Amino acid sequence: MLYINGEFCNAQSNKTFDVINPATGEVVRTVAKGGAADAQAAIDAAQEAFKPWSRLTAKDRYAYLKKTADILRGRTDEIAQLITLEMGKPLAEAKGEIGLAIDYLDWYAEEGKRIYGDTIPASTPNKRLMVLRQPVGVVGAITPWNFPIAMITRKLAPALAAGCTMIVKAASATPLAAIEVFKALHEAGVPKGVANLVNGSASEVVGTLMASPVVRKITFTGSTEVGKELVRQSADTMKKVSMELGGHAPFLVFEDADLEKAAEGAIASKFRNAGQTCVCTNRIYVQKSVADEFAAIMAEKMKRLVMGNGLQEGVTIGPMIDRAAMDKAQEHIDDAVEKGATLLSGGSKVTEGELEKGCFFAPTVLLNATHEMKIAYEETFGPVAPIFTFETEEEVIRYANDTVYGLASYVYTKDGSRMFRVAEALDYGIVGINDALPTVAQAPFGGIKESGVGREGGKYGIEDYLEYKFLSLQLDI
Ligand code: NAP
Repeated sequence: MLYINGEFCNAQSNKTFDVINPATGEVVRTVAKGGAADAQAAIDAAQEAFKPWSRLTAKDRYAYLKKTADILRGRTDEIAQLITLEMGKPLAEAKGEIGLAIDYLDWYAEEGKRIYGDTIPASTPNKRLMVLRQPVGVVGAITPWNFPIAMITRKLAPALAAGCTMIVKAASATPLAAIEVFKALHEAGVPKGVANLVNGSASEVVGTLMASPVVRKITFTGSTEVGKELVRQSADTMKKVSMELGGHAPFLVFEDADLEKAAEGAIASKFRNAGQTCVCTNRIYVQKSVADEFAAIMAEKMKRLVMGNGLQEGVTIGPMIDRAAMDKAQEHIDDAVEKGATLLSGGSKVTEGELEKGCFFAPTVLLNATHEMKIAYEETFGPVAPIFTFETEEEVIRYANDTVYGLASYVYTKDGSRMFRVAEALDYGIVGINDALPTVAQAPFGGIKESGVGREGGKYGIEDYLEYKFLSLQLDI
């Protein structure tokens, strides 16, 4: 189903596509495949809705967002099932993601009340200078499959709170959770046209959003490759852009760290979502003096990972999204082994029993990784953990920053001065210090370098949906 101008509908072309369960290879559901005409209808609806929506008080918009959040909260269990079915993450992780998705709605419902302007001292006695904050207008949002619900509300909540209207195109692998968000918005009574959902052909739907002069801002979460293309396309109509792109997170373990906690953190950061998050650890750097001990602790703790269909109780790691994703993980492992890495565990697709039918890839740890290996500089986006070693703090900071990416990084140490020294030297938008899971709704999330531009979350996240307007008043004073 698409959701355009307050109604759930089929695509104008009547085309559909299948949603596949990566744990079983079975079709979960068949959904409408939107195209250019649907995207245009959604843009028209969002344009029409913009004026009345932007003129509502923040308190009114708060009520709609809060109600949407409450509806989703009440449906956590059923939406979690859909997320697990469409992309494989274990139910507990799916519920955690829904909690985060709701946090964004709750948080921005409130934050909309705090969009303050400024007064500025004038240069002459008879002038008064003011700055208003106004919504940018119609926004196009394009989201990935790895967090099918949280990546939508992280954009939708600040946009709507700021007074913008929106067209969302969710990833084709995961349209089902997206539909649930729009059902909740509909039931909460959000006026027609304010929020629209057009899943389907990326080239047609996103192409139409990019070409439209009505769409004043594009917010994208996905690969760096596609993000760069969208930035290029946005130039023609000079849209504002927010880009949440790929990452290549270093995870630094110093010899003074609590190695048990560091190993737990590395596993949580690396194997959550089967290694398919933009903030997943890509390179684990361990100080040489504790490298063997750390690897042994990690190998022991990894035995607790339970791979399987995420719907089953107790499963902690599900399938990858599709076969192409598994091929990339395999390519990185083969390249690393050929260049001298040693396999500590895993190393290939799971071929036993029921799991054979799905996209299950064994959690993998590689020792003796080096910077010549592809895994050291390309985003693997899979459950593969390469361990590198280092001697000094200076050396590891150089290694950690030697990448085009700059999203998340992690440091494990008990030394308070080192925490700040290293965190300040890391060229990343996020630094988790003895913390492998730093993402929360109230803090800024985003990267530098080729990991993107702009921030989502917290008071920073609403900035991207607002423009400054300067008023200069000349008075008879
Ligand atoms: P992706 O292939 O770039 O797709 C993301 C979205 O863009 C999907 O809706 C997709 O539609 C659409 N798309 C694909 N090709 C397009 C094109 N040529 N023109 C316009 N739109 C296009 O990324 P993904 O595989 O879904 O997600 C994984 C990537 O996202 C990783 O690199 C990860 O690091 C990054 N990510 C970043 C963050 C962050 O906050 N920084 C968060 C999560 C994920 P279809 O699905 O229809 O192809």
